[in-house]
Amino acid sequence: MEKITAIKGIKDILPQDSPAWNQIETAARRIFGDFGFREIRVPIMEKTELFKRSIGETTDIVEKEMYTFTDRDDELITLRPEATACVIRAYIEHNMHNYEQVTKLYTLGPMFRRERPQKGRFRQFHQINAEALGDEQPQCDAEIIFMLVNFLRFVGLNDFSLEINSLGCKYCRPTFSRDIVAHLSSVEKNLCTNCQRRIRTNPLRVFDCKVDSCGEVIANAPNILSYLCSHCDEHFKLVRTFLEDLKVSYTVNSKMVRGLDYYTKTAFEVTSSNLGAQNALAGGGRYDGLVSSLGGPNVTGIGFAVGMERLMASLPRKQEHDYQTDIFIAALCEKAQKIAFLLTNELRSSGIKAQTDYTAKSLKSQMKRADKLNSSYTLIIGDNELEDKKVQLRDMKAKNQISLPLDNLTEAIKNIFKEKS
Ligand code: AMP
Repeated sequence: MEKITAIKGIKDILPQDSPAWNQIETAARRIFGDFGFREIRVPIMEKTELFKRSIGETTDIVEKEMYTFTDRDDELITLRPEATACVIRAYIEHNMHNYEQVTKLYTLGPMFRRERPQKGRFRQFHQINAEALGDEQPQCDAEIIFMLVNFLRFVGLNDFSLEINSLGCKYCRPTFSRDIVAHLSSVEKNLCTNCQRRIRTNPLRVFDCKVDSCGEVIANAPNILSYLCSHCDEHFKLVRTFLEDLKVSYTVNSKMVRGLDYYTKTAFEVTSSNLGAQNALAGGGRYDGLVSSLGGPNVTGIGFAVGMERLMASLPRKQEHDYQTDIFIAALCEKAQKIAFLLTNELRSSGIKAQTDYTAKSLKSQMKRADKLNSSYTLIIGDNELEDKKVQLRDMKAKNQISLPLDNLTEAIKNIFKEKS
């Protein structure tokens, strides 16, 4: 029969990789908790309208990357391509702004984008997202970037760069957009066909284009930082000062605009040099108009997303046994198997990682299995042991063994592990 494989660009996370994933997720929960963030778990499916209205109708994500389907009742549903919109939807729906002035939330989970799969780019990938709502002060921007940097360092990443920029606000961005349109139109023939269309639909998206000739056009484009109104300019200056106070190194990149339409003022991106072409590890920014544009109160916000797969790929791989067993019970005959069945499960109920084998294989093959399971001890029960009413407990590291009476065996083993812990 032909085998069924996973969908292109969608990967399994295998048992040997899960411990590293868990460690990263635990670190995020810990560090984000220290900064006052609480976990929210939002659905992986939402109404399509949510993403169209927040990310922007003319972004790559909404135009060509969303997994959208019509449900049986004709409702348009989308597998979430990012989490910010979902978190904001929940924030509004549950009136969270009524409970506290500043709401800090984080969420972890899979996102879905129908991109062309390549190294570091998948169709299902995982993000850790943090969102701070209700604090418009520049300290908040610096603090959330500081939290991201702390988290990356905590999980062992040292080699990364942080770029920041300001995208202005609804008052100063239109003048910039007007001049960008004029600039792009004057050199339209040098742009790829996609970007020629973007001049009319969403000119800022030309900044994200990877085509060389478009990159050259952008290199000579007006600089967004010279268009900031006094409020945005002051905000950006303060963010930089606070980052310096917190000893966070950064570079300003006025060409970094990020691929989503909702960003205002501060935008930031973390890249890692050991990732290859898809080197963006994390990104985020301020989105002061997003909550109200989704029908909520006039509340400001800022957030970021870290890509788990890229973070895992940029961390040095630890050579650890991915499986640890406390005791393997080698049962060499049928009667021993009966004892092993009860004993194994009683030990597990007491928090001891116990394993056995019910196929009565030879001692040699059972010792091999114990090694494979990375077992600290092996308990040997065969005909001779049953006759003597004594079993052998082998310490697999020290390579020595002791005898234990068959009576009260469970208690004796529990005591050994109690002494060790
Ligand atoms: P974005 O939501 O586009 O700002 O992306 C935030 C982070 O998610 C990026 O910096 C990547 O680490 C990760 N990411 C985005 N798209 C993908 C993808 N298709 N495959 C793997 N990781 C991704």
